[in-house]
This record gives sequence, structure tokens and C-alpha cells, in this order.
Amino acid sequence: MSLRQTLRGMALKELFTGMTVTLRHMFKPNITIQYPEQRTHISPRFRGEHALMKYKSGRERCVACKLCEAVCPAQAIYIEIDAESQGQRRCTSVYDIDNGKCIFCGYCQEACPVDAIVLGPNFEMVAETREGLLSDKEKLLGNGVKWNDQINANLKADAKYR
Ligand code: SF4
Ligand code: SF4
Repeated sequence: MSLRQTLRGMALKELFTGMTVTLRHMFKPNITIQYPEQRTHISPRFRGEHALMKYKSGRERCVACKLCEAVCPAQAIYIEIDAESQGQRRCTSVYDIDNGKCIFCGYCQEACPVDAIVLGPNFEMVAETREGLLSDKEKLLGNGVKWNDQINANLKADAKYR
């Protein structure tokens, strides 16, 4: 060890430098928040948990075109068409998303011609089993109801950039 390093060690220079940084930040406003009581702003473009949307009339938007299923790079979407609905307007009997496979790329939302499948603002998703990562149609429609106002506000805020 050189003489210079020895003198620096004896003067505890690193310790005082660290304490100076601590002191300097002690009197500045906090940059951390007390999550979950406090929350930060989430961008309208945030891609969180999926939701299936309905029209104001309560009718499902999805017309079972399967474009979202075809475009999904992770093959996370599985759809079955309701055999009873082959007339003017088709709908799904099964609409599953495997969140364990999903990479939240948002391609399904981009591909959907009727804004039926969207990625909502919810990021608080937790599961203890693989089965818990599956979202069926009932759950997705429930998400649409639960997050309806925020999703519509987000879509409106982002509309001019789409
Ligand atoms: S966000 Fe991407 S990976 Fe997830 S279901 Fe949609 S298309 Fe598939
Ligand atoms: S969610 Fe949209 S893209 Fe997917 S099947 Fe329904 S209408 Fe087609």
C-alpha cells in the first residue's frame, strides 16, 4: 500500500465523504414513497393486466375474430368461438390468457379491431400456482368492469398517438 493510500485510510476520507452525502440528502424532499398507501402516476400507455371490454349497452365488444390470438407472439391467448353465434355477430365461449406466458407486449390490443381486449392499469397481480396465472373470460370481463373508467380515460388520452 502506498504512503498516500495509508494516509487516506488513516484520515477516514471515504467515511466522511459518505457522511457528507447522507447529510446533503437528509434535508432534501423524499424521492421514495410509502407504497401501497402512496402511489405514483401511471402512464396511460402502461400495459398491465388484461381486460375484456363491453359497450355501454352491456354487450361484449369481442366479435371472436381471433386476430389477438393469431398475433400473440407468446401464444398466450386461447379462444373458442361460441357455436351458437355463427350468424351476424360471433362471440367467444372461451377466452383464456395465460399470464405466465404473456410478455405484456400489447400486440393483442393493437390487433383488436373493436378495442375489446385491452391492457389495463393494474400491475398488482400475484399467484402462487401456475393455474393462478390463468385469466378466463369471466375474470377478463370482470377486469373490464372494474377498470372501465380508467381504461377509457387512458385510451382517450392516448388516442391521438395511435
Ligand atoms: S400482451 Fe402480447 S404476449 Fe400478452 S397476450 Fe397480448 S399479444 Fe400475447
Ligand atoms: S378480442 Fe378483439 S382481436 Fe381478439 S377475438 Fe375479440 S375482437 Fe378479435
